[in-house]
Amino acid sequence: MGVATNEEAGVTRELDALVVGAGFSGLYQLDRLRTLGYDVELWEAGERLGGIWFWNCYPGARVDSEGAIYQYSRPDLWEGWDYSERFPDVREIRSYFAYVDERLGLSRDIRFGARVAHAAFDDAGDRWVVRSADGLAVRARFLIMATGVLARPYVPPIPGIAEQAFTGAIHHTSSWPQEGVDLAGRRVAVIGTGASGVQVVQEAAHRAAEVTVFQRTPAVAMPMRQKQLTPEEQRTLKAGLPTRLAGCARAFAGFDFDFRAENARDLDPVRRDAVYRQLWDAGGLRFWLATFQDVLFDEEANASAYDFWRDRVRERIDDPAVAEKLAPTAPPHPFGVKRVPLEQDYYDAFNQDNVHLVDLLEEPIAEITAPGVRTTQRTHDADVIVLATGFDAVTGSLTAIDISGPGGVRLGDKWSDGVRTHLGVATAGFPNLLMVDGPQNPSGLCNGPTWAEVQGELIVQTLEHLRAAGHTRIEPTEDAERAWERRITELFEATLFDRGHTWYVGANIPGKRRQMLLYPGGLPSYRADWADAVARGYAGFRLA
Ligand code: FAD
Repeated sequence: MGVATNEEAGVTRELDALVVGAGFSGLYQLDRLRTLGYDVELWEAGERLGGIWFWNCYPGARVDSEGAIYQYSRPDLWEGWDYSERFPDVREIRSYFAYVDERLGLSRDIRFGARVAHAAFDDAGDRWVVRSADGLAVRARFLIMATGVLARPYVPPIPGIAEQAFTGAIHHTSSWPQEGVDLAGRRVAVIGTGASGVQVVQEAAHRAAEVTVFQRTPAVAMPMRQKQLTPEEQRTLKAGLPTRLAGCARAFAGFDFDFRAENARDLDPVRRDAVYRQLWDAGGLRFWLATFQDVLFDEEANASAYDFWRDRVRERIDDPAVAEKLAPTAPPHPFGVKRVPLEQDYYDAFNQDNVHLVDLLEEPIAEITAPGVRTTQRTHDADVIVLATGFDAVTGSLTAIDISGPGGVRLGDKWSDGVRTHLGVATAGFPNLLMVDGPQNPSGLCNGPTWAEVQGELIVQTLEHLRAAGHTRIEPTEDAERAWERRITELFEATLFDRGHTWYVGANIPGKRRQMLLYPGGLPSYRADWADAVARGYAGFRLA
């Protein structure tokens, strides 16, 4: 069969690269490649810049990374920007993206409302033919997927949801109406207690008439220690930014702090707990990611962190039965192997008369009905149901697209029995398809903007290498994929991550193969693995 001409294929443009997704990662690619003279365009399903911050505009949505490091590290950008809070909310993050756009003029090369639906590789021309859901088509040498690790919402198959049985409003946190939903004086049911659920609950508790929280796994949430920043504090913060931002790229999880070079096991309980107390009081994700280096590896060390957390949380909850459900005596899973949320007054909210906890292990949901949520024991009436039920994480936004390689093999089919990649950036059988956010790289375990820049730059350098060498094609070998899988497994098996029923291992989605979806060795180790492949002439890739 001959290759269709552009006209026959309805192709409107020939590009060097098509970037998909207008969050931190995609925007970094667009700006860098455009500056280097590539003919590049970006397609984004949403109506504005911001990636997840376009979709996740639910009440209480805010970052768990400090604003200081939740921005690009370019001085020409951070010098002119200040967040007003230590942990900015969705409105302020959106303003930040608008500011970046104003400075870099990104929107002129972005098509909003363009959801990529199909991509097929034209083997003869070494190019992708990419189509949006509404029929737009381009041909691009490289297809760069910056489609997010948490961009495909997961709605559990609870009877009554698909049937639209509920007479009130029902929304997933990540498909929240842009015009907002007023919770004041209403009965709100929140299903799910992950990071988004925690944020909605603590916000709703202030103004809803009733908040009913449906919990399967207790959130092991850390104190945020939110703070409004005065102009003086903003000035001081800015003076320290070069050091803080530079440090991010060197830390395990891309933050401006890292694990301590000592083991919890080696300290007596008094000295150990003094360190925990310090991290606890500092707030943010430090208690998770600036803790002892053995906490995510060693059961005894891990238990000491959990016990400290449990005792601090219980101090805040009046009813011992509720305390046991929110902060159980025995950990629901090892501490820190599930994404750790931050909270401000989540636990205190359960002392209020208008906040109720339903333990789904005792009282599972049977169906959503016209008045609300029916469990095996009773119906909880509601005006608004919030589905804080998470995402088909890491792979979901990639497999949602009909991507087929030269032999017609679909990406979703290739990965149906487990994902395989080389360096978490490319996969055999799909030439010139490069993933910023994707499986088997550190993305979902890393501060977002740091990852966008680190992986983004590795991809840019790869394209520069190809251009200089006159290559038009890059594709990993299957041997390299097998070696990369062994590398991930070896790193994973040393940790306690396997003991969590989490999206990190695909366990939140029925039928998804359980495997570590991320690279658990940290950013410095990942960068070293890349550097090693590059030093060996892009080992594991076929360049042509
Ligand atoms: P995203 O921001 O996810 O952007 C991906 C974009 O791709 C989306 O706009 C999506 O619409 C688009 N897209 C996907 N598929 C298609 C398609 N087929 N066609 C066209 N467009 C498509 N990380 C942190 O480090 N700190 C935090 O505090 C933090 N808070 C978070 C809070 C929430 C509620 C969520 C959901 C995630 C949070 N994250 C956080 C993780 C977050 O993924 C990263 O911080 C960051 O947003 C990643 O940026 P990105 O550009 O890689 O991906």
